[in-house]
Amino acid sequence: MATTNNISSIDIHNLSFIKSNKNEPLLVLNNYVYKRNKTTAKRKYWVCVIRGCQVYVHTTLSNEYAGGGTDLHSHAPNPELVQVKKVRQKMKERALNEVTLIGMIYEEEIAKSSMTRSALAIFPTNSEIYQGVAKARRKAAPELPQSCFFTIPDIYKSTIDGKRFLLYDGSPIRRERILLFGNDDQLDLLFDSHTVFMDGTFSKAPHNFCQIYIIHAVNFDICLTCVYGLLMIKKSIVYKQIFVELKQIASQRGKSFSPASIITDFEPAVLPVLKS
Ligand SMILES: [Zn+2]
Repeated sequence: MATTNNISSIDIHNLSFIKSNKNEPLLVLNNYVYKRNKTTAKRKYWVCVIRGCQVYVHTTLSNEYAGGGTDLHSHAPNPELVQVKKVRQKMKERALNEVTLIGMIYEEEIAKSSMTRSALAIFPTNSEIYQGVAKARRKAAPELPQSCFFTIPDIYKSTIDGKRFLLYDGSPIRRERILLFGNDDQLDLLFDSHTVFMDGTFSKAPHNFCQIYIIHAVNFDICLTCVYGLLMIKKSIVYKQIFVELKQIASQRGKSFSPASIITDFEPAVLPVLKS
């Protein structure tokens, strides 16, 4: 026999919205969940998500309560399910808007949440939600470029607080692109450092580039990454161009890029540049 729940009055201030797994809006009222059934010129009609339960809620087009939700449901409310859905939605939103590791988002949101013990007991594990959240994140990210000639979206040219991050995007040799990234604070550390470390890593270079070139400054005996370069070749002209650009940027900032010592792996193409 179906369980019924008598709702003599409803608290319209208890109206909120969450997203379904398919990113569709769901209305939550007094721990019952409703999905959108139809929309007219003035009203949205929502029906309980439990199959066979025909309780409706009406809202305005701007999602303000307009009526309904007082009939008897054929089942009990499920506050745990609502709590779980809200926390899952928050995790997904953070995964889409931040670059924080999904596992870390999971731990932080579980710690922050005020879920009951019952809700925590049915909350999926990190590995259970990982695939879905990672897939949503992949969908939101631009496709990987198929060649080195791609336009960099503006979002990747700036830091999160809107300051410059792309320092140089050019080709000293035809079809050999150089990209340099770093923010102003990193640059100031670099230009103030007497010792600079330079090193390239090849195994982690993205498709179309042969190496990630990293320039570190030393600050209070700590080695700090200041400039990241994506290079397509290992020729002196490329390293020379990096120095030219950094010297120019230093000059624009009223500084100079003239470290007393530069420490680098033995790289035949770099040495002539350092000597010059
Ligand atoms: Zn129902």
